[in-house]
Amino acid sequence: MVLLYAFCFILGLVLGSFFNVVGQRVPAKQSIITPRSACPRCQHKLSAGELIPLLSYIIQGGKCRNCKAKISPMYPIVELVTGLLFATAPLATGFTGELIIALTFISLFMIIFVSDIAYMIIPDKILLFFAGIFLLERIFMPLSPWWDSLLGAFIGFTVLFLISVVSKGGMGGGDIKLFALIGFATGVKTFVVAFLLSVFFGAVFGVIGLIFKFVSKGKPIPFGPFIAAGTLAAFYFGDWIIGKYITLFSGGF
Ligand SMILES: [Zn+2]
Repeated sequence: MVLLYAFCFILGLVLGSFFNVVGQRVPAKQSIITPRSACPRCQHKLSAGELIPLLSYIIQGGKCRNCKAKISPMYPIVELVTGLLFATAPLATGFTGELIIALTFISLFMIIFVSDIAYMIIPDKILLFFAGIFLLERIFMPLSPWWDSLLGAFIGFTVLFLISVVSKGGMGGGDIKLFALIGFATGVKTFVVAFLLSVFFGAVFGVIGLIFKFVSKGKPIPFGPFIAAGTLAAFYFGDWIIGKYITLFSGGF
């Protein structure tokens, strides 16, 4: 059992390293296969020994081996976070089909995180690719009833579209498509919890940020990490949260 968790962690580290490349290159319309990764300052091509997730960064002290330029800590952070999320996902889903859905979500969110930080956009290509993956997964592991996916996508799209109309562009087109995709993969019930939790997490962060002054009024905060946290929390604990909510409002505990 420990081996399975270790495998998930290492898989996360390796894929996390790949997500760094995908999130940086796809929005810039570059190939994700060639050329090999290079130091952005001296163009030194990275050897196999310099491409080991997490370890290369630690061994090289966060510097390019050739020109000693500092490497962005974003790379090892994305690798480590992906590894940790991959390793903890089975705790919530068990080693079931839903684990595959959870890992797909984590992959999508990490790539979006990288491209959001680098370019402030969610590339259509990424969303389209993951739409295909989720479609295949839900064909082989359908929600019950199966059309819950279609309804979830419809509600996800509609709710976010209405918000974008009311807020006059406060929500981007990327967010609308992303929530439609989340609705498709989770179904209506979990989508509603995911949406409410995302807004809740964002609001709590905003209020704490204003109090401790690491957020300033009128300056937008990136919503992506809260969508990721809200969706994973809803996917892992949605049924439990809905159950609590229903007992609360039907008067019993
Ligand atoms: Zn260099």
